[in-house]
Amino acid sequence: MRLKHKKIVVNSQKRSYKVYDLHTLIVGSGAAGLATAVRLHANGIKDLLIVTEGLKMGTSINTGSDKQTYYKLSLCADDNDSPLEMAKTFFNGGAVHGDLALTEASLSARGFLHLVDLGVKFPQDAYGQFAGYKTDHDPRRRATSIGPYTSKQMCLSLIDEIKQRKIDVLEKNTVVKLLVVKENKKRRVVGAVSIDNKGKVSVFYASNVVYATGGPGGLYKTSVYPKVHTGAVGVALLEGAAARNLTESQYGLASIKFRWNVSGTYMQVVPRVISTDPDGKSNVCEFLKDYYKKSGDMHSAVFMKGYQWPFDTAKAIGGSSLIDILVYIETVIKGRRVFLDYMENSDGFELDDLSSEACEYLKNSGAYQDTPIDRLMHMNPGAYELYKDHGIDISQEYLEVAVCAQHNNGGLAANHWWESENITHFFPVGEVNGSHGVCRPGGSALNAGQVGAFRAAEFIAAKYSEVSINSEKYLKKTDRILNNIFEMIDKSQDPTNASWRDERKEIQERMTECGAHIRSLDQVEEGLKNAWRHYARLTTNASFCTSALHYKEIFRNIYLCFSQVVYLEAICFALTEGVGSRGSAMVLDKKGKKIHKDLDDKWKLMVEDESFRSKVLVSEFDGHTPVNNYWEDCRELPVGDMWFENVWADYRNGKIYNS
Ligand SMILES: Cc1cc2nc3c(=O)[nH]c(=O)nc-3n(C[C@H](O)[C@H](O)[C@H](O)COP(=O)(O)OP(=O)(O)OC[C@H]3O[C@@H](n4cnc5c(N)ncnc54)[C@H](O)[C@@H]3O)c2cc1C
Repeated sequence: MRLKHKKIVVNSQKRSYKVYDLHTLIVGSGAAGLATAVRLHANGIKDLLIVTEGLKMGTSINTGSDKQTYYKLSLCADDNDSPLEMAKTFFNGGAVHGDLALTEASLSARGFLHLVDLGVKFPQDAYGQFAGYKTDHDPRRRATSIGPYTSKQMCLSLIDEIKQRKIDVLEKNTVVKLLVVKENKKRRVVGAVSIDNKGKVSVFYASNVVYATGGPGGLYKTSVYPKVHTGAVGVALLEGAAARNLTESQYGLASIKFRWNVSGTYMQVVPRVISTDPDGKSNVCEFLKDYYKKSGDMHSAVFMKGYQWPFDTAKAIGGSSLIDILVYIETVIKGRRVFLDYMENSDGFELDDLSSEACEYLKNSGAYQDTPIDRLMHMNPGAYELYKDHGIDISQEYLEVAVCAQHNNGGLAANHWWESENITHFFPVGEVNGSHGVCRPGGSALNAGQVGAFRAAEFIAAKYSEVSINSEKYLKKTDRILNNIFEMIDKSQDPTNASWRDERKEIQERMTECGAHIRSLDQVEEGLKNAWRHYARLTTNASFCTSALHYKEIFRNIYLCFSQVVYLEAICFALTEGVGSRGSAMVLDKKGKKIHKDLDDKWKLMVEDESFRSKVLVSEFDGHTPVNNYWEDCRELPVGDMWFENVWADYRNGKIYNS
């Protein structure tokens, strides 16, 4: 560690804290934060610091699936792809701004090849072509993968590069507050405050803050985000950072003992899907059977969950997403547990009874073996090993699953240079940035993170390369903020307050109950009222904690609960406006369409009003209740004539940064 800028300050209440003064602060070290640091350094911004909970924390380095996907511009054979074609795919997902779609497409190849150059071994043929395959919501073959651990390998290669470039990293620090001031009638960020694992406070003054804290993993009880990942979108929401499309997230089937998506081969080998009593062994039943007339249809639907992993309301009636609903009913409504059994075939399983698509796929893959585990060992032995490595032997035991929160398509609102729409010098990148809409192609989250890194770094280097703050000016304001923080820490020592773990549980259970993939207006309204109350309690009482290691959890509870408030406000607004069921969120409504004839009347789906696909939902908190939610028309895809001399002139004189 060669941090130069350290000094110790004692504040008005005689509490000490460390101060760092730097040009650009990067909060978070997932694939997006690391890439931004590398690109800033490559663009000549050397006075950098990454502040992070840890290099081994976050989603990117801890997650994956049977074949974790990276979505990129096609770079193979005669695929005839182009930035505009790819942008159309993003844009057509609905509720997406055209300029963001085009930028994510235009920089896709650059972001991808940068990773290749850093040593990420994306498969290529003898002539250097990067072969691709089709992923969900992908009209072409733009997807690639290096196996289950694509994002982990991206992080490892980026960390090597960070080391090569000697970029400073401060681990075991959780940012709990952003410093935002008003300047020239605009709000700008000037730094952040963190608490480390020993309970010590640090202040970072910075001319620019790149915010790469990932998705809101800690919001949900039922979640496939890695356990170590909480996310911190709430820290920015509390400062009034504009957000968009907070209503749009992805949910799907995942194992819960070890959190992992059961997509691809895990479902294509057609495991037996069973439920049990809460003890995990009594009253075993194949609960899906009651909803399918023919076993071949049921097995084909299980197979299709491999391709069609995210819960998708368009596939709820008569499609493969009925499975997610039935799993939800079994686990949440009936209180049973659901498992995938790879040891035995489901009753009546016959290859030839499957849909032609499933049957052909399995036959082409030589998957004639007698049991799901044998088929899995044949088609994808790594998928078996993965669970074995994490202490679950699926050749000997059931694999417990649930419908879990996986990704937030929405997030903080930024422009096409990834600068926040309403806080200058503040750059949300990666999953915390809400550039996606209703549907996005699988793998586009990783693409967006790398593109954001290029954009933010280039813009900072071009427009914000000067030191633009004088930290002395902000000491008074910081002093007040720190007094509040120390006061909360003191309050957290009161054992009559609820423990931070119980408070966290309450937040997570509420979100899973009313703000996940099954929503209804009554429940959201009720949840929202409780979330506001809970937030008020957390800010008055502070969660009880016994060790300095947990001081950060007091603040995490506050910003998690606040983000819940803002997310539920957005969901409530969208439901009231009549958006209906779309993407991965189903809205139940008495007057809606029945999902399945054998399900009770509660299971009626409110049909989507597709006119909302041309709008983006913006949510902003200005310090007063309620949160301000409003629609913004989607900006069209910018289709210029790309006349070279004009583009060159705009580039030479820096006009591109003004548009
Ligand atoms: C099971 C699963 C499978 C997925 N599969 C795919 C896929 O196939 N393709 C795809 O494109 N996407 C996939 N995703 C999504 C994708 O992995 C994530 O969107 C992406 O990795 C997020 O990267 P990030 O850098 O934005 O955030 P993260 O990798 O989550 O990093 C966030 C960083 O910020 C730090 N941090 C957070 N809060 C604070 C704070 N307050 N102070 C300091 N540091 C903080 C964390 O410790 C971490 O270092 C998947 C996600 C999951 C959960």
